[in-house]
Amino acid sequence: MIYKDMEEIMETENNMPESKNFIEQIIDKDLVEGRFDHVQTRFPPEPNGYLHIGHAKSILLNYGLAQKYNGKFNMRFDDTNPIKEKEEFVSSILEDIRWLGADWEDRLFFASNYFEEMYEAAVKLIQKGKAYVCDLSPEEIREYRGTLTEPGKNSPYRDRSVEENLKLFENMKNGIYQDGEKVLRAKIDMSSPNINMRDPIIYRVAHMSHHNTGDQWCIYPMYDFAHPIEDAIEGVTHSICTLEFEDHRPLYDWVVNELEYPNPPRQIEFAKLYMTNVITGKRYIKQLVEDGIVDGWDDPRLVSIAALRRRGFTPESIKMFVELCGISKSQSSVDYAMLEYCIREDLKAKKPRLMAVLDPIKVIIDNYPEEQVEWFDVVNNVECPQLGSRKVPFCREIYIDREDFMEEPPKKYFRLFPGNEVRLMNAYFVKCVDYKKDENGNVVEIHCTYDPETRSGSGFTGRKVKGTIHWVSARHGVKAQIRLYENIVDEEKGKLNEDGSLNLNPNSLTVLPNAYIEPNIENVEPEDKFQFVRQGYFCADMRDYTKEAPVFNRIVSLKSSFTLPK
Ligand code: ATP
Ligand code: MG
Repeated sequence: MIYKDMEEIMETENNMPESKNFIEQIIDKDLVEGRFDHVQTRFPPEPNGYLHIGHAKSILLNYGLAQKYNGKFNMRFDDTNPIKEKEEFVSSILEDIRWLGADWEDRLFFASNYFEEMYEAAVKLIQKGKAYVCDLSPEEIREYRGTLTEPGKNSPYRDRSVEENLKLFENMKNGIYQDGEKVLRAKIDMSSPNINMRDPIIYRVAHMSHHNTGDQWCIYPMYDFAHPIEDAIEGVTHSICTLEFEDHRPLYDWVVNELEYPNPPRQIEFAKLYMTNVITGKRYIKQLVEDGIVDGWDDPRLVSIAALRRRGFTPESIKMFVELCGISKSQSSVDYAMLEYCIREDLKAKKPRLMAVLDPIKVIIDNYPEEQVEWFDVVNNVECPQLGSRKVPFCREIYIDREDFMEEPPKKYFRLFPGNEVRLMNAYFVKCVDYKKDENGNVVEIHCTYDPETRSGSGFTGRKVKGTIHWVSARHGVKAQIRLYENIVDEEKGKLNEDGSLNLNPNSLTVLPNAYIEPNIENVEPEDKFQFVRQGYFCADMRDYTKEAPVFNRIVSLKSSFTLPK
């Protein structure tokens, strides 16, 4: 089935027997069987960069499940790795999540606050004979680990006594050893077919300051050990992560079981969201920012949540997008055009439709009285009467868009050309009687005459015209900068060049510095959104927009080549 619009989707969903995704089916089963009596999820980003559209999927999934099951949603920074983390990302991440509408209430946690519990958990494993301090070098550990086809070999330090391990681990904590000199390893099975189970490292020595705990610790837990403990401490029931952790699940289960947590959490994996024609890799984005090719991490051509927001996407459109993507176990990628479809659907009946001329040419209406100004009543959005109407001024001099005039039109060009008559939207019929060019051959001025009988809404039926074009009063229009965007890379042409660099689209940004907008934008604030008729949806740039120098980003054009899959 092909959905026409958002309402239809919602309606169809309401009328369909509820179809549940595989995660909901697992949760339902857990609740029925009594494994859990409630649902608690979490979103656990590492504060080492900006969140992108893929994270949005994870956030909305986790938050959505908590809501649906009347459960709890934890916001947790997984900040156990002191090398990469930066405080600045903590606030940008929280801002993005809040904007998306996921509410963690008072449930904001930092994994680094559990370092003490994690240390005690490691001691417990040692006491149970399930962990040991190993002196092998990193290279030796790799060698001993074996391969996918060969089992690993036991470390010569594997059979140290509990007492010796406790002493050595305490020494590790007390800073007696250099980085890499000793590690703590889980004692599981060096011949396991799953390499993650071959005595994985769970603690390492790292003499590094941490953004939260400073120099208090010189040993840090590894992700596969820390993450299940964080979930268990917080009482998370369903720990949802992406597919690459599937092979780590036996270790996750081993950790929570050996540590004897009552009601241990369950890990569930789903496929990451991949998008075509965008760039999500942190390394690439960093390069683009450093090379000045994009205007920061929130450049509207990127798909960080901050960038999508700045471009003009709404939380509702992102929610619709991730719902359409669905939750699955198989990897696939979704085109950017689907996200564009969602924002059109969200804005089309919500936002006023104004007239804006992006690339202006002046039109002089020779027979219109010099001093006269008429104010036309114009409905703001024909699909949404509640949005009311506004007054649009008209006078002898107006601007129209350059592409709405041609000296020598091809067949089927119904817009303005010498001798042709068109309707000025919401105003009169005008006929082109003359035009002027500059020394370079560019048309700089068009002369028309108007027919006062043809005023819009007057019921005129004398004759018809085939073209209707938009316009802005030259005397009243507000000058603005307009930014148009295309995909930053085109995957069909190859995302990467032979040398591994990005194959960038040189036309990804077009700046139009002399656009004119009808004057009904006095009260516009950064982030306000509109349709500019025939041009698309636009958003007042959240960083650069001012009343004195308005800047609008095109979110998306009106045309779409995208149709929803059946
Ligand atoms: P890194 O490479 O730094 O680990 P990351 O994108 O995995 O980057 P995390 O902070 O670890 O960043 O991610 C937080 C959460 O977001 C994790 O639960 C992860 O599974 C989820 N996530 C990350 N990328 C995607 C994606 N493309 N689609 C869906 N979920 C994602
Ligand atoms: Mg990660």
